[in-house]
Amino acid sequence: MTFESLGLCPPILSALAALDYKAPSPIQEKAIPPALAGRDVLGCAQTGTGKTCAFAAPILQRLNDHPAKGRPVRALILTPTRELALQIQESFEAYGRNLPLRSAVIFGGVGQQPQVDKLKAGVDILVATPGRLEDLHNQGFIHVEKLEIFVLDEADRMLDMGFIHDVKKILTWLPKKKQTLFFSATMPPEVQGLVDSLLTDPVKVAV
Ligand code: AMP
Repeated sequence: MTFESLGLCPPILSALAALDYKAPSPIQEKAIPPALAGRDVLGCAQTGTGKTCAFAAPILQRLNDHPAKGRPVRALILTPTRELALQIQESFEAYGRNLPLRSAVIFGGVGQQPQVDKLKAGVDILVATPGRLEDLHNQGFIHVEKLEIFVLDEADRMLDMGFIHDVKKILTWLPKKKQTLFFSATMPPEVQGLVDSLLTDPVKVAV
């Protein structure tokens, strides 16, 4: 299997080649085609399996294929920790290096002004942890009315870290019509409840 056969476009293929990614990992093989086709995806996969590329590459391609007016936030990735948020945004930058899309990352424990400045300048792809996202939303700096794609990363860890109520609140801000990519290593009942309320006819992918 090659990345090309999954349907990825030349600018992303050359970015992956520059990173020396030779072939897709199992989660990439299974998740990239339906994600590119606009389907909701439920992925059971842990960090280390290549799941970041499994959602980031199709998001970059879909946003690039359908340019938007202005620069509203078009994709939101919610992840439980600052370390994951930073890694995910670096991955978007790496896979999207040949595309004219902008990403930003927001998380707590640091001053908010540089993050606010980036948001004001306009970002297509926003990677966030729940607490800082809510803070900045409450201050009026987050506009997600035009959101097209939502990723919930490490849903089970969100639950373990006590973020489930924050996640549910954030979901109420998002447009109803959107593509959702949902990742969790395990499926406890509360996570299954979120899956049932959030996903429409998802393609299920387990590795
Ligand atoms: P992730 O599970 O997304 O955190 O990825 C784990 C690590 O695998 C990261 O360092 C990625 O850069 C790397 N990686 C992801 N996909 C591939 C691939 N297809 N080939 C080689 N390395 C990869």
